[in-house]
Amino acid sequence: MTEVILAKCGEIVLKGLNRKGFEQRLLKNLRAALRDVGTFETSLSQSIAYIEPVGEQDVDAAFEKTCRVFGFVGVTRALKCEKDIGAICRAAAEYLPPFLKDKKTFKAESRRADKRFPLTSPEISREVGAAVLKSNAHLSADMHHPDVVVMTEIREDAAYIHAGQTPGAGGMPYGSNGKSVLLLSGGIDSPVAAYMIAKRGVSIIPLHFFSPPYTGERAKQKVVKLAEILRDYCPGISLRVVYFTEAQKAILENCREDLFTVIMRRFMMRIAYEVMRRHRAGSLVTGESLGQVASQTMQALSVTDATTPALTLRPLIGMDKEEIIRISRRIGTFETSIEPYEDCCTVFTPRHPKTKPDLRQVEEEEKKLDIDALVGAAMENIEIIGGEQ
Ligand code: ATP
Ligand code: MG
Repeated sequence: MTEVILAKCGEIVLKGLNRKGFEQRLLKNLRAALRDVGTFETSLSQSIAYIEPVGEQDVDAAFEKTCRVFGFVGVTRALKCEKDIGAICRAAAEYLPPFLKDKKTFKAESRRADKRFPLTSPEISREVGAAVLKSNAHLSADMHHPDVVVMTEIREDAAYIHAGQTPGAGGMPYGSNGKSVLLLSGGIDSPVAAYMIAKRGVSIIPLHFFSPPYTGERAKQKVVKLAEILRDYCPGISLRVVYFTEAQKAILENCREDLFTVIMRRFMMRIAYEVMRRHRAGSLVTGESLGQVASQTMQALSVTDATTPALTLRPLIGMDKEEIIRISRRIGTFETSIEPYEDCCTVFTPRHPKTKPDLRQVEEEEKKLDIDALVGAAMENIEIIGGEQ
């Protein structure tokens, strides 16, 4: 008897002809996620991924990792045992109690993919149900609204028993839906934006704008750490750091103070757009949310949007800070995001930023700058940290 993990595929089941490609991508991502945990054999059949430890392995850690792989809707720990009803009932009695101890009612169900198995599904359920009742005296059977379903599956290779499924990460396999450049600050919002777009299957190229000496090494390290946490969801990402001090200084010295923020944001978009083209990515992603700060009013966003022809995805646009924080806690980025180091945006923030900037005025101000030279210089000096890309 071996404890294994079963992971159920989600939306890719709907993909028809592309399904094989999606499944292969999902398996590849699963294997990458498990690589650091130990040695596991993985396979996929009939929309279920099977994860089996080779020898003694850390199944808890593998379970945690599997729950974070996009493309699975449910993850279950199961016991693989011999296809013999006596063995199955013994396994149920031994293996299931920890999964059942907080429950009051249960129902036994069975699925028989191997029709040569001598018992029918209702017969298997009856036998296993009786074994469960005998070894868990506190439980009673409830056919209609059970707290937990004890499942027995008779497959070609073996029998599997399990109780209760944990929700998977959902979404689509990472990398199955194009590439985006993410503007990653050290704040709460942009890591959440990364998570949401990665969940739709998009690979992420994180880009951070850094302004030494106005922002310090620790502010940068904080973003490095955020990129590391995001690697659980976006396998293999490396952080790209743009040195942004010269551009910021030029804006500060030459342009109206109340337009500083919007002009700076337009510079970020120009540089991100160049990175997007260089990597043949299809869009930009930001953590902007409507009305959250002066640079995120509808007018300010319009002026920012008019900078490049890029499609800019803003997955948080309609979300409240509370909702964003909830996701940030769940994905594990919150504690790092709230570390108190200044971002390059905050250092130069004007006292009275224009909340309704006018595109023509902004463009007029920008004529005072050598935009191509500033963007070109920033592009020549991008630092790449960690990852495999
Ligand atoms: P966050 O919590 O993500 O920092 P915010 O509410 O502080 O967002 P802004 O500082 O206006 O808002 O930034 C809006 C978006 O611009 C961010 O979500 C991020 O996508 C991008 N951004 C801001 N600063 C940087 C930076 N230094 N490097 C890269 N992207 C940035
Ligand atoms: Mg910020």
